[in-house]
Amino acid sequence: MDTASLTGKDLAAAINSDTAKRAAALADAGAAPTLALVVANDDSASTWYVNSLRRAAKKLGIECDRIDLGAYASAARIRSELTARSADPAVDAIMLQTPLPAGVTLDDVSSAIDARKDVDGVSPLSLGLLAAGLDGFVPATSEAVVELLVHHEIPLEGRTVTVVGRSNIVGKPLAQLLLAKNATVTVAHSRTADLAAATSAAEIVVAAAGRIGLVTGEHVNEGAIVIDVGTNESADGSIVGDVDAATVTGKAAGLSPVPGGVGPVTTALLMRHVVVAAENARG
Ligand code: NAD
Repeated sequence: MDTASLTGKDLAAAINSDTAKRAAALADAGAAPTLALVVANDDSASTWYVNSLRRAAKKLGIECDRIDLGAYASAARIRSELTARSADPAVDAIMLQTPLPAGVTLDDVSSAIDARKDVDGVSPLSLGLLAAGLDGFVPATSEAVVELLVHHEIPLEGRTVTVVGRSNIVGKPLAQLLLAKNATVTVAHSRTADLAAATSAAEIVVAAAGRIGLVTGEHVNEGAIVIDVGTNESADGSIVGDVDAATVTGKAAGLSPVPGGVGPVTTALLMRHVVVAAENARG
C-alpha cells in the first residue's frame, strides 16, 4: 500500500498568512500583539525551540519577549513572574516553556497564568474548560493533530482513535478534542498492558509518548492513519519521532513526517492564539 505523507507545511503556511494579516491590523490599530515567553531552564532542545518560536513570531509581526529566570528558579519565583505578566496590559499572551527546574512541576505554577493569556492552554482553568467543552485556549500540539487530520480530509466522526500518551499537555487534551469530533477514543500509556492490541484496534493512531521508534509496523493495522507527535533527539542530534517510519511505511495509508508534520502546525496555532488573545483583549 502507498503511504501518504501527511505533511503540515501547507496548512501551517495558510494559518500563518491569516495570522500575519491580523497581527498587522492590530499593529496598525495601536500595538503589535505581544507574547511573553517565560523560560526557566538551560536545556539545549528547549533553547532551540524558543529560538524557533521567536523567529516565527518575528516573521508574523508578533513581539516576543523572552524572560529568562534561570535553571534554578523556584516555583514561587516562576509564579510571581507569571502573575506579573498576567496583570500587565502590555502583554497579550504568556507561554511557559518546559522543562521546568528540578523539583518544580507545571501543576505548581500553571494556575498563575491568566486563562485569557494562556495561549498554550496549560492552566487548570484552560484544561477544565476544554474538558467541559467550553471556549478557551487549547494546547497547541493537541489542536495541531486534529487540524492536520481535518486538513488531510481524514474523517473523525465515529472512527476509532488510539492516542499513545496521557500527558496533561498532549495526550489528555487531544483525547478531549477527538471526543468533541465524535471519535471513539482509547488512551494508551506507559502502564498499558498490551500496547500493540490497543493500537492495532484503531483506524487512527497518534503517537505522543516521547519514545523513539515505539510504534512500529507491528502496532498498526493495514490502512491505518498514523500521526507522529514525538520530537526526540536521536544519538546523532537529529530530531526523530515516536514512529518507526521504515516499518509503518507500506502498511499505513498515511503517516505524518517528523520533522514537517505536527511541528509546524503547532507553532502556527500558537501564534494564531497570540493574535486571538490580543484581539480579545482589545475588544
Ligand atoms: P510526557 O513525557 O509528559 O508524556 C509521555 C506520555 O507517554 C506519558 O503519558 C506516558 O504514560 C506515555 N508513555 C511513555 N512511554 C510509553 C510506552 N512505552 N508505552 C505507552 N505509553 C508510553 O511527554 P509529552 O510532553 O506529552 O510529549 C510527548 C512527545 O511529544 C515528546 O516526544 C515531545 O517532545 C513531543 N511534543 C511534540 C510537540 C510538537 O509540536 N510536535 C509539542 C509537544 C510535545
